[in-house]
Amino acid sequence: SLDIADLTMRFSGLETPVLAIGRLHVPAGGQLAVTGASGSGKSTLVNAITGLERVTGGTVSWGGTDITRLPTGRRDAFRAAHIGLVMQDFHLFPGLSALENVVLPIRLSRRLEPAERERALRLLDTVGIARPQQAIETLSRGEMQRVAVARALLARPGVIVADEPTASLDGRTGEAVADLLVELAGAEGATLIAVTHDPALTERLDRRIGLAGGRIVEDSAKALAA
Ligand code: ATP
Ligand code: MG
Repeated sequence: SLDIADLTMRFSGLETPVLAIGRLHVPAGGQLAVTGASGSGKSTLVNAITGLERVTGGTVSWGGTDITRLPTGRRDAFRAAHIGLVMQDFHLFPGLSALENVVLPIRLSRRLEPAERERALRLLDTVGIARPQQAIETLSRGEMQRVAVARALLARPGVIVADEPTASLDGRTGEAVADLLVELAGAEGATLIAVTHDPALTERLDRRIGLAGGRIVEDSAKALAA
């Protein structure tokens, strides 16, 4: 589960925090869509909950581990083991094949096990990449995001965090990638947190929160309770 308490993110020179979240709980295996206007703090929230950026206050706990207390190296290791990331602009490495991109996060830290290579090939097949040896820069944008989804799932993370995963894809392609994300995260029992402007993706997730000025101003869970 994700438990946020009194989270703030301030940037030097700015008087008000860019992010201020009093409390947020997402159960293990739960789904959350995060919406809000440009500049409302969505990516800052992603960076805080994945430990990509150090928060300036509060706690971010995953299954009881407060990642804000971990030193950078252990925070990076925690993310590599437990959180699969999908970014709007893919974050793939040119000059490598689709398969090499999927296994790269593991290869950076240790030797790849043969079973992991097999799983990478299976995942690429599942997301519809027929030629795993194809150079990444020759793939279409939709295919690139499919490779990124396969990469996010390789380490069997308990959590998938996606920042506008369909925003730079056309409607049809975006829908296909959204389907894959929801289906694969569901099949793996993973928690899915997705920043998205895509109503089709938002509708499919259990709960939606809306941010404005770094605060939660809408919450579908509260709307139901009220
Ligand atoms: P978009 O939909 O455009 O991606 P967003 O909701 O993801 O927007 P953020 O990127 O989280 O918005 O930014 C929230 C606010 O924090 C913005 O006003 C931005 O200018 C500010 N901000 C983000 N990073 C920094 C930084 N490193 N230093 C100063 N201000 C920052
Ligand atoms: Mg953003």
